[in-house]
Amino acid sequence: MKYTSIETQKEIPIYIGENILKDLKQYLSKLDFDKIIIITDTNVNKLWSKILSKELSTFKHDFFILKAGEKSKNFKTYEKLCNDILDKEITRKSLIIAFGGGVVGNMSGFIAATLFRGIKFIHIPTTIMAQADSTTGGKQAINSKHGKNIIGTFYEPEFILIDSQFLQTLPEREIKCGIAECIKHALCQDRILLEELLNKNKDKNYLFKIILKTIELKLNIIESDRKEINEGKILVYGHTIGHAIETLAKGKLNHGESISIGMICVANISYLLGYLNEKDMNKHYETLNYWGLPTKIPKEIKLNSILKQLNYDKKFKDSNIELILLEKIGKILKNKNKIGIEITENDLKKYLSNCY
Ligand code: NAD
Repeated sequence: MKYTSIETQKEIPIYIGENILKDLKQYLSKLDFDKIIIITDTNVNKLWSKILSKELSTFKHDFFILKAGEKSKNFKTYEKLCNDILDKEITRKSLIIAFGGGVVGNMSGFIAATLFRGIKFIHIPTTIMAQADSTTGGKQAINSKHGKNIIGTFYEPEFILIDSQFLQTLPEREIKCGIAECIKHALCQDRILLEELLNKNKDKNYLFKIILKTIELKLNIIESDRKEINEGKILVYGHTIGHAIETLAKGKLNHGESISIGMICVANISYLLGYLNEKDMNKHYETLNYWGLPTKIPKEIKLNSILKQLNYDKKFKDSNIELILLEKIGKILKNKNKIGIEITENDLKKYLSNCY
């Protein structure tokens, strides 16, 4: 598989398979670099670094490890990592390997984009979230006190290597969270994938097939509009409210769980506005419940705090917020060919009160 960046016309190969880490050397041999910098987190380091190090034994390489979890996706960690990397013998010709989940991927991509105004990097994603979704599209970002992913850029890797062996050690909760992004793509783009996500007969390649299909769906979008000007807005289905909830949950809900609730909120809004029928709204609940994902805003997160957070995240324009809604499963709602429906803050408050 591969995709092309619309701005740079750069082709980004995606190598996918089981136990393909052993082919890494062969793929690296096509690149010109002097040294490798591996950025990973504490969990992935414990579980998988030895194997990666063995594959890289013929290259000069150093590991840089950040504390696992979303809390590390901040300025302070960014600054520390940049300085630690610069303390070593790194040059403009060095290569970064982002080895981990979405947090490591986003942080490493942002570091690669900014060190020496841009050095080469590759992704080796180790979570479903990162394999199926976050590594394609080139969105790199860190969080600030003003909101999630608010400081970032678009920057593409040289290639992405997706090896399903890493999923063997992924905790149950992280599997479900990654599936939340696959459910998002299914809800917006592919009814058949949604049925597959409810399939009770899972063979050993089940997750791999779901990841593959999700990547295909994502590539369909990013090759035409990765900057989310119109069609690309599909990618943030459930995310506007989901991100506010994720911030307010202060670590109690992770990304996948938060967008699961966010998708339920927009499904309810679309239903209450008369666009989505009851059957398709219930399909949201059925699929997310089936995967054990949350479908209610936690009581501790008050409605007013969500509105305040959305304001703080600069999501309101003249007291209106733009939300991405579905017309039916597999079809995004369009207004005069444009994706995104504006609703008032008062209406949002009314609709969200149904989501507790
Ligand atoms: P994560 O990177 O925090 O990983 C989740 C947990 O799994 C961590 O504790 C990690 O240490 C652990 N882990 C990773 N690989 C493992 C393995 N193989 N075995 C055992 N444990 C493992 O989170 P995530 O869910 O991968 O990604 C979420 C992040 O991705 C969020 O910050 C989100 O904003 C971002 N994201 C970005 C995009 C994008 O387009 N750029 C899209 C979706 C999500």
